[in-house]
Amino acid sequence: MKRVTIIGGGLAGLIAAIELAHAGIHAILVERKAYPFHRVCGEYISNEVVPYLNSRNLFPESYNPPAIKEFQLSTIDGDSKIMPLDLGGFGISRYTYDNFLYERALSHNVEFCLNTEVTSVDFEQGAFRVKTDHDEWKTDLVIGSFGKRSRMDRVMNRSFLRRRSPYVGVKYHVRTEHPNELIALHNFPGGYCGISNIEGGKSTLCYLTHVSNVKRYRSIGEMEKNVLWRNPLLKTIFNESEFLFDKPEVINEVSFETKSPVDGHVLMAGDAAGMIAPLCGNGMAMAIQSARILTREAIPFVRGEIRREEMESRYRKQWNDEFSSRLWRGRQIQKLFGRELTSRIAVSLVMSIPPLARSIIRNTHGRPF
Ligand SMILES: Cc1cc2nc3c(=O)[nH]c(=O)nc-3n(C[C@H](O)[C@H](O)[C@H](O)COP(=O)(O)OP(=O)(O)OC[C@H]3O[C@@H](n4cnc5c(N)ncnc54)[C@H](O)[C@@H]3O)c2cc1C
Repeated sequence: MKRVTIIGGGLAGLIAAIELAHAGIHAILVERKAYPFHRVCGEYISNEVVPYLNSRNLFPESYNPPAIKEFQLSTIDGDSKIMPLDLGGFGISRYTYDNFLYERALSHNVEFCLNTEVTSVDFEQGAFRVKTDHDEWKTDLVIGSFGKRSRMDRVMNRSFLRRRSPYVGVKYHVRTEHPNELIALHNFPGGYCGISNIEGGKSTLCYLTHVSNVKRYRSIGEMEKNVLWRNPLLKTIFNESEFLFDKPEVINEVSFETKSPVDGHVLMAGDAAGMIAPLCGNGMAMAIQSARILTREAIPFVRGEIRREEMESRYRKQWNDEFSSRLWRGRQIQKLFGRELTSRIAVSLVMSIPPLARSIIRNTHGRPF
Protein backbone atom coordinates (compact mmCIF):
# COMPACT_ATOMS: atom_id res chain seq x y z
CA MET A 1 0.00 0.00 0.00
CA LYS A 2 1.22 3.49 -0.82
CA ARG A 3 1.11 6.27 1.76
CA VAL A 4 -1.46 9.10 1.38
CA THR A 5 -1.43 12.65 2.76
CA ILE A 6 -4.46 14.94 2.54
CA ILE A 7 -3.87 18.69 2.90
CA GLY A 8 -6.92 20.52 4.30
CA GLY A 9 -9.89 19.16 6.22
CA GLY A 10 -12.94 20.94 4.77
CA LEU A 11 -15.67 18.90 3.10
CA ALA A 12 -13.41 17.72 0.26
CA GLY A 13 -10.58 16.55 2.54
CA LEU A 14 -12.87 14.90 5.09
CA ILE A 15 -14.86 13.01 2.45
CA ALA A 16 -11.63 11.91 0.71
CA ALA A 17 -10.31 10.59 4.05
CA ILE A 18 -13.55 8.72 4.78
CA GLU A 19 -13.71 7.23 1.26
CA LEU A 20 -10.11 5.99 1.53
CA ALA A 21 -10.82 4.53 4.96
CA HIS A 22 -13.80 2.64 3.49
CA ALA A 23 -11.41 1.08 0.99
CA GLY A 24 -9.10 0.07 3.86
CA ILE A 25 -6.52 2.76 3.01
CA HIS A 26 -4.87 4.72 5.80
CA ALA A 27 -4.41 8.46 5.22
CA ILE A 28 -2.96 11.36 7.23
CA LEU A 29 -5.11 14.49 7.06
CA VAL A 30 -3.35 17.77 7.93
CA GLU A 31 -5.62 20.67 8.92
CA ARG A 32 -4.45 24.18 9.82
CA LYS A 33 -7.18 24.60 12.47
CA ALA A 34 -8.90 22.38 15.08
CA TYR A 35 -12.56 21.30 14.90
CA PRO A 36 -15.13 22.68 15.41
CA PHE A 37 -14.66 26.06 13.73
CA HIS A 38 -16.64 28.54 11.64
CA ARG A 39 -16.02 29.26 7.96
CA VAL A 40 -17.38 31.77 5.48
CA CYS A 41 -20.09 29.76 3.70
CA GLY A 42 -23.82 30.17 3.04
CA GLU A 43 -24.36 26.65 4.53
CA TYR A 44 -27.02 25.59 2.02
CA ILE A 45 -26.21 22.13 0.62
CA SER A 46 -27.85 21.03 -2.62
CA ASN A 47 -29.83 17.78 -2.31
CA GLU A 48 -27.78 16.23 -5.11
CA VAL A 49 -25.46 14.89 -2.37
CA VAL A 50 -28.19 13.15 -0.36
CA PRO A 51 -28.10 9.68 -2.02
CA TYR A 52 -24.32 9.54 -1.52
CA LEU A 53 -24.48 10.81 2.09
CA ASN A 54 -27.19 8.27 2.91
CA SER A 55 -25.17 5.46 1.32
CA ARG A 56 -22.30 6.23 3.71
CA ASN A 57 -24.51 7.14 6.68
CA LEU A 58 -23.13 10.70 6.56
CA PHE A 59 -26.43 12.62 6.36
CA PRO A 60 -26.62 14.73 9.56
CA GLU A 61 -30.14 13.51 10.46
CA SER A 62 -29.63 13.92 14.21
CA TYR A 63 -29.27 17.73 13.76
CA ASN A 64 -32.62 17.93 11.99
CA PRO A 65 -31.36 20.23 9.21
CA PRO A 66 -34.15 22.35 7.65
CA ALA A 67 -35.30 21.15 4.21
CA ILE A 68 -35.13 24.08 1.79
CA LYS A 69 -37.56 24.04 -1.16
CA GLU A 70 -38.09 27.63 -2.25
CA PHE A 71 -35.91 30.39 -3.60
CA GLN A 72 -36.50 34.13 -3.17
CA LEU A 73 -34.66 36.59 -5.38
CA SER A 74 -34.72 40.33 -4.75
CA THR A 75 -33.53 43.34 -6.73
CA ILE A 76 -31.32 46.04 -5.28
CA ASP A 77 -34.53 48.05 -4.67
CA GLY A 78 -36.14 45.20 -2.74
CA ASP A 79 -38.66 43.91 -5.31
CA SER A 80 -38.75 40.16 -4.92
CA LYS A 81 -40.16 36.94 -6.26
CA ILE A 82 -40.36 33.45 -4.73
CA MET A 83 -39.88 30.41 -6.98
CA PRO A 84 -39.78 26.66 -6.30
CA LEU A 85 -36.38 25.00 -6.10
CA ASP A 86 -36.69 21.84 -8.17
CA LEU A 87 -34.11 19.75 -6.35
CA GLY A 88 -33.82 21.82 -3.17
CA GLY A 89 -31.33 21.40 -0.39
CA PHE A 90 -30.79 21.45 3.37
CA GLY A 91 -29.15 23.84 5.80
CA ILE A 92 -26.45 22.93 8.30
CA SER A 93 -23.59 25.00 9.68
CA ARG A 94 -20.04 24.10 8.71
CA TYR A 95 -19.19 24.36 12.43
CA THR A 96 -21.47 21.39 13.07
CA TYR A 97 -21.17 19.44 9.82
CA ASP A 98 -17.39 19.51 9.43
CA ASN A 99 -17.08 18.42 13.06
CA PHE A 100 -19.62 15.62 12.45
CA LEU A 101 -17.53 14.38 9.48
CA TYR A 102 -14.33 14.74 11.51
CA GLU A 103 -15.77 12.48 14.22
CA ARG A 104 -16.88 9.97 11.58
CA ALA A 105 -13.39 10.03 10.06
CA LEU A 106 -11.83 9.49 13.51
CA SER A 107 -14.08 6.48 14.04
CA HIS A 108 -12.71 5.08 10.75
CA ASN A 109 -9.15 5.48 12.10
CA VAL A 110 -8.18 8.42 9.88
CA GLU A 111 -5.04 10.00 11.33
CA PHE A 112 -5.30 13.78 11.90
CA CYS A 113 -2.61 16.42 12.37
CA LEU A 114 -4.65 19.38 13.61
CA ASN A 115 -3.41 22.94 14.21
CA THR A 116 -0.77 22.06 11.65
CA GLU A 117 -0.07 23.87 8.40
CA VAL A 118 1.59 22.24 5.40
CA THR A 119 4.35 24.59 4.31
CA SER A 120 5.70 22.76 1.25
CA VAL A 121 5.29 19.71 -0.95
CA ASP A 122 8.12 18.57 -3.24
CA PHE A 123 7.81 15.80 -5.78
CA GLU A 124 11.07 13.94 -6.47
CA GLN A 125 11.77 10.48 -7.86
CA GLY A 126 8.20 9.30 -7.75
CA ALA A 127 7.35 10.42 -4.19
CA PHE A 128 6.53 13.57 -2.24
CA ARG A 129 8.27 15.20 0.71
CA VAL A 130 5.64 16.99 2.80
CA LYS A 131 6.79 19.64 5.27
CA THR A 132 4.62 21.19 7.97
CA ASP A 133 5.36 23.78 10.62
CA HIS A 134 6.10 20.85 13.01
CA ASP A 135 7.43 17.95 11.02
CA GLU A 136 8.21 16.37 7.64
CA TRP A 137 7.63 12.99 5.99
CA LYS A 138 7.61 11.11 2.69
CA THR A 139 4.36 10.10 1.02
CA ASP A 140 3.31 8.51 -2.27
CA LEU A 141 0.12 10.47 -2.95
CA VAL A 142 -0.89 14.00 -1.96
CA ILE A 143 -4.51 15.15 -2.13
CA GLY A 144 -4.82 18.95 -2.20
CA SER A 145 -8.10 19.92 -0.53
CA PHE A 146 -6.83 23.20 0.91
CA GLY A 147 -9.76 25.33 -0.24
CA LYS A 148 -10.19 28.49 -2.26
CA ARG A 149 -6.96 30.22 -1.22
CA SER A 150 -4.11 28.77 0.78
CA ARG A 151 -0.45 29.25 1.43
CA MET A 152 -0.08 26.10 -0.70
CA ASP A 153 -1.24 27.98 -3.81
CA ARG A 154 1.70 30.38 -3.37
CA VAL A 155 4.17 27.60 -2.55
CA MET A 156 3.07 25.70 -5.67
CA ASN A 157 3.11 28.92 -7.74
CA ARG A 158 -0.39 28.29 -9.04
CA SER A 159 -1.21 30.51 -11.98
CA PHE A 160 -4.64 31.76 -10.80
CA LEU A 161 -2.85 33.81 -8.09
CA ARG A 162 -1.39 36.12 -10.74
CA ARG A 163 -4.79 37.78 -11.11
CA ARG A 164 -6.07 39.63 -8.03
CA SER A 165 -9.69 38.95 -7.14
CA PRO A 166 -12.00 41.79 -6.08
CA TYR A 167 -14.44 39.79 -3.92
CA VAL A 168 -14.76 39.67 -0.13
CA GLY A 169 -16.97 37.10 1.68
CA VAL A 170 -18.66 37.80 5.05
CA LYS A 171 -20.74 35.50 7.26
CA TYR A 172 -22.89 35.75 10.43
CA HIS A 173 -25.15 33.42 12.33
CA VAL A 174 -28.32 35.18 13.43
CA ARG A 175 -31.67 34.49 15.07
CA THR A 176 -34.43 35.97 12.98
CA GLU A 177 -37.87 35.30 11.51
CA HIS A 178 -36.98 33.39 8.34
CA PRO A 179 -39.11 30.57 6.91
CA ASN A 180 -37.43 27.18 7.18
CA GLU A 181 -38.12 26.12 3.59
CA LEU A 182 -36.77 29.34 1.99
CA ILE A 183 -33.34 30.40 0.75
CA ALA A 184 -33.24 34.08 -0.21
CA LEU A 185 -30.70 35.86 -2.37
CA HIS A 186 -30.88 39.63 -1.92
CA ASN A 187 -28.92 41.85 -4.29
CA PHE A 188 -27.16 45.06 -3.36
CA PRO A 189 -24.78 47.27 -5.37
CA GLY A 190 -21.65 45.24 -6.06
CA GLY A 191 -22.79 42.02 -4.43
CA TYR A 192 -25.44 39.66 -3.09
CA CYS A 193 -26.43 38.31 0.32
CA GLY A 194 -27.96 34.91 1.03
CA ILE A 195 -30.03 33.92 4.03
CA SER A 196 -31.30 30.46 4.94
CA ASN A 197 -31.88 28.45 8.08
CA ILE A 198 -29.58 25.89 9.69
CA GLU A 199 -29.81 23.59 12.72
CA GLY A 200 -30.90 24.85 16.13
CA GLY A 201 -33.34 27.52 14.88
CA LYS A 202 -30.52 29.74 13.60
CA SER A 203 -30.03 31.36 10.20
CA THR A 204 -26.89 31.94 8.16
CA LEU A 205 -26.51 35.42 6.69
CA CYS A 206 -23.66 35.42 4.22
CA TYR A 207 -22.66 37.80 1.46
CA LEU A 208 -20.12 38.42 -1.25
CA THR A 209 -19.20 42.03 -1.93
CA HIS A 210 -16.86 43.90 -4.22
CA VAL A 211 -13.73 45.04 -2.35
CA SER A 212 -14.33 48.62 -3.53
CA ASN A 213 -17.38 48.74 -1.22
CA VAL A 214 -15.20 47.84 1.79
CA LYS A 215 -12.45 50.29 0.83
CA ARG A 216 -14.91 53.12 0.36
CA TYR A 217 -16.55 52.77 3.79
CA ARG A 218 -13.44 51.48 5.64
CA SER A 219 -15.34 49.11 7.94
CA ILE A 220 -17.67 46.16 7.38
CA GLY A 221 -20.37 47.75 9.60
CA GLU A 222 -20.34 51.09 7.76
CA MET A 223 -20.36 49.34 4.39
CA GLU A 224 -23.38 47.25 5.41
CA LYS A 225 -25.33 50.37 6.44
CA ASN A 226 -24.42 52.30 3.30
CA VAL A 227 -24.47 49.56 0.69
CA LEU A 228 -26.37 46.44 1.76
CA TRP A 229 -29.13 48.42 3.44
CA ARG A 230 -30.01 50.05 0.12
CA ASN A 231 -31.99 46.87 -0.39
CA PRO A 232 -34.91 47.41 2.06
CA LEU A 233 -35.27 43.66 2.63
CA LEU A 234 -31.66 43.48 3.84
CA LYS A 235 -32.10 46.56 6.02
CA THR A 236 -35.01 44.84 7.76
CA ILE A 237 -33.05 41.60 8.23
CA PHE A 238 -30.04 43.44 9.70
CA ASN A 239 -32.23 45.54 12.01
CA GLU A 240 -34.50 42.78 13.21
CA SER A 241 -31.99 39.97 13.76
CA GLU A 242 -30.03 38.95 16.83
CA PHE A 243 -26.38 38.58 15.74
CA LEU A 244 -24.74 35.59 17.40
CA PHE A 245 -21.04 36.23 16.58
CA ASP A 246 -18.95 38.95 18.28
CA LYS A 247 -17.56 39.77 14.86
CA PRO A 248 -18.23 38.41 11.37
CA GLU A 249 -16.20 35.70 9.66
CA VAL A 250 -14.47 37.41 6.72
CA ILE A 251 -12.37 36.15 3.77
CA ASN A 252 -10.64 38.23 1.12
CA GLU A 253 -9.78 37.61 -2.51
CA VAL A 254 -12.42 35.00 -3.26
CA SER A 255 -11.35 33.89 -6.74
CA PHE A 256 -13.33 32.10 -9.47
CA GLU A 257 -10.36 31.82 -11.85
CA THR A 258 -9.74 28.55 -13.65
CA LYS A 259 -7.48 26.18 -11.68
CA SER A 260 -6.29 22.70 -12.47
CA PRO A 261 -7.49 19.41 -10.95
CA VAL A 262 -3.91 18.05 -11.06
CA ASP A 263 -0.99 20.35 -10.30
CA GLY A 264 2.59 19.21 -9.64
CA HIS A 265 1.25 15.60 -9.37
CA VAL A 266 -1.01 16.71 -6.48
CA LEU A 267 -4.66 15.67 -7.04
CA MET A 268 -6.86 18.65 -6.17
CA ALA A 269 -10.40 18.40 -4.78
CA GLY A 270 -13.08 20.95 -3.84
CA ASP A 271 -12.27 24.65 -4.17
CA ALA A 272 -8.55 23.86 -4.64
CA ALA A 273 -9.50 22.36 -8.04
CA GLY A 274 -11.94 25.15 -8.93
CA MET A 275 -14.48 27.29 -7.11
CA ILE A 276 -18.00 27.99 -8.34
CA ALA A 277 -19.62 31.38 -7.62
CA PRO A 278 -21.46 31.17 -4.27
CA LEU A 279 -24.74 32.39 -5.76
CA CYS A 280 -24.95 29.02 -7.54
CA GLY A 281 -25.20 27.42 -4.06
CA ASN A 282 -23.31 24.37 -5.20
CA GLY A 283 -19.70 24.57 -3.93
CA MET A 284 -20.23 22.20 -1.00
CA ALA A 285 -21.87 19.57 -3.21
CA MET A 286 -19.00 19.92 -5.69
CA ALA A 287 -16.43 19.52 -2.90
CA ILE A 288 -18.11 16.29 -1.78
CA GLN A 289 -18.52 14.94 -5.32
CA SER A 290 -14.97 15.81 -6.42
CA ALA A 291 -13.52 14.01 -3.38
CA ARG A 292 -15.56 10.97 -4.26
CA ILE A 293 -14.45 10.99 -7.92
CA LEU A 294 -10.84 11.59 -6.86
CA THR A 295 -10.71 8.70 -4.43
CA ARG A 296 -12.29 6.36 -6.98
CA GLU A 297 -9.30 7.01 -9.24
CA ALA A 298 -6.73 7.11 -6.42
CA ILE A 299 -7.65 3.78 -4.81
CA PRO A 300 -6.28 1.53 -7.63
CA PHE A 301 -3.08 3.62 -7.66
CA VAL A 302 -2.61 3.26 -3.91
CA ARG A 303 -3.13 -0.49 -4.25
CA GLY A 304 -0.46 -0.60 -6.96
CA GLU A 305 -2.94 -1.59 -9.69
CA ILE A 306 -2.41 1.42 -11.98
CA ARG A 307 0.44 3.87 -12.59
CA ARG A 308 0.48 7.50 -11.46
CA GLU A 309 0.12 8.86 -15.04
CA GLU A 310 -2.99 6.78 -15.60
CA MET A 311 -4.54 7.89 -12.30
CA GLU A 312 -3.81 11.56 -13.08
CA SER A 313 -5.20 11.47 -16.61
CA ARG A 314 -8.32 9.55 -15.53
CA TYR A 315 -9.00 12.01 -12.71
CA ARG A 316 -8.37 15.05 -14.93
CA LYS A 317 -10.87 13.72 -17.48
CA GLN A 318 -13.52 12.80 -14.92
CA TRP A 319 -13.19 16.15 -13.17
CA ASN A 320 -13.45 18.11 -16.44
CA ASP A 321 -16.44 16.06 -17.64
CA GLU A 322 -18.28 16.67 -14.38
CA PHE A 323 -17.36 20.23 -13.42
CA SER A 324 -15.66 22.40 -16.04
CA SER A 325 -18.79 23.58 -17.88
CA ARG A 326 -20.62 24.17 -14.55
CA LEU A 327 -17.74 26.34 -13.38
CA TRP A 328 -17.69 28.25 -16.67
CA ARG A 329 -21.41 29.02 -16.35
CA GLY A 330 -20.92 30.05 -12.72
CA ARG A 331 -18.19 32.50 -13.79
CA GLN A 332 -20.46 34.11 -16.40
CA ILE A 333 -23.28 34.47 -13.85
CA GLN A 334 -20.88 35.93 -11.28
CA LYS A 335 -19.77 38.56 -13.84
CA LEU A 336 -23.41 39.64 -14.30
CA PHE A 337 -24.16 39.80 -10.60
CA GLY A 338 -20.93 41.52 -9.58
CA ARG A 339 -21.82 44.85 -11.25
CA GLU A 340 -24.74 47.13 -10.45
CA LEU A 341 -26.15 47.69 -13.94
CA THR A 342 -25.83 44.13 -15.23
CA SER A 343 -27.11 42.79 -11.93
CA ARG A 344 -30.24 44.98 -12.20
CA ILE A 345 -30.89 43.71 -15.73
CA ALA A 346 -30.15 40.06 -14.89
CA VAL A 347 -32.34 40.01 -11.78
CA SER A 348 -35.27 41.69 -13.58
CA LEU A 349 -34.97 39.18 -16.42
CA VAL A 350 -34.87 36.18 -14.07
CA MET A 351 -37.84 37.54 -12.10
CA SER A 352 -39.96 38.14 -15.18
CA ILE A 353 -39.10 34.78 -16.80
CA PRO A 354 -39.22 32.17 -13.98
CA PRO A 355 -38.17 29.27 -16.31
CA LEU A 356 -34.89 31.17 -16.78
CA ALA A 357 -34.14 30.87 -13.05
CA ARG A 358 -34.86 27.13 -13.18
CA SER A 359 -32.63 26.74 -16.20
CA ILE A 360 -29.76 28.62 -14.49
CA ILE A 361 -30.09 26.44 -11.40
CA ARG A 362 -30.22 23.26 -13.51
CA ASN A 363 -27.16 24.31 -15.50
CA THR A 364 -25.00 25.14 -12.49
CA HIS A 365 -25.91 21.99 -10.55
CA GLY A 366 -25.16 18.34 -11.12
CA ARG A 367 -27.48 15.38 -10.95
CA PRO A 368 -28.05 13.54 -7.65
CA PHE A 369 -25.20 11.06 -7.15
C1 LIG B 1 -19.43 33.85 0.55
C2 LIG B 1 -19.54 32.38 0.23
C3 LIG B 1 -20.76 31.73 0.38
C4 LIG B 1 -20.88 30.37 0.03
N1 LIG B 1 -22.09 29.74 0.20
C5 LIG B 1 -22.24 28.45 -0.19
C6 LIG B 1 -23.49 27.78 -0.03
O1 LIG B 1 -24.46 28.30 0.52
N2 LIG B 1 -23.58 26.50 -0.48
C7 LIG B 1 -22.53 25.85 -1.07
O2 LIG B 1 -22.69 24.69 -1.48
N3 LIG B 1 -21.32 26.43 -1.17
C8 LIG B 1 -21.15 27.72 -0.74
N4 LIG B 1 -19.92 28.32 -0.84
C9 LIG B 1 -18.78 27.52 -1.34
C10 LIG B 1 -18.29 26.53 -0.29
O3 LIG B 1 -18.05 27.17 0.93
C11 LIG B 1 -16.98 25.87 -0.77
O4 LIG B 1 -17.14 25.46 -2.11
C12 LIG B 1 -16.60 24.67 0.09
O5 LIG B 1 -16.36 25.09 1.41
C13 LIG B 1 -15.37 23.98 -0.46
O6 LIG B 1 -14.89 23.01 0.45
P1 LIG B 1 -13.35 22.59 0.46
O7 LIG B 1 -13.27 21.38 1.30
O8 LIG B 1 -12.84 22.57 -0.92
O9 LIG B 1 -12.60 23.83 1.14
P2 LIG B 1 -12.71 24.44 2.60
O10 LIG B 1 -14.00 24.09 3.23
O11 LIG B 1 -12.35 25.87 2.47
O12 LIG B 1 -11.55 23.68 3.42
C14 LIG B 1 -10.20 23.88 3.16
C15 LIG B 1 -9.43 23.57 4.43
O13 LIG B 1 -8.02 23.54 4.17
C16 LIG B 1 -7.33 24.07 5.28
N5 LIG B 1 -6.00 24.48 4.81
C17 LIG B 1 -5.71 25.44 3.88
N6 LIG B 1 -4.37 25.50 3.68
C18 LIG B 1 -3.81 24.57 4.48
C19 LIG B 1 -2.45 24.16 4.70
N7 LIG B 1 -1.43 24.71 4.05
N8 LIG B 1 -2.23 23.19 5.61
C20 LIG B 1 -3.27 22.60 6.28
N9 LIG B 1 -4.57 22.96 6.09
C21 LIG B 1 -4.83 23.92 5.20
C22 LIG B 1 -8.22 25.20 5.74
O14 LIG B 1 -7.98 25.55 7.09
C23 LIG B 1 -9.62 24.61 5.52
O15 LIG B 1 -10.10 23.98 6.68
C24 LIG B 1 -19.75 29.66 -0.47
C25 LIG B 1 -18.52 30.31 -0.57
C26 LIG B 1 -18.42 31.66 -0.24
C27 LIG B 1 -17.08 32.34 -0.37
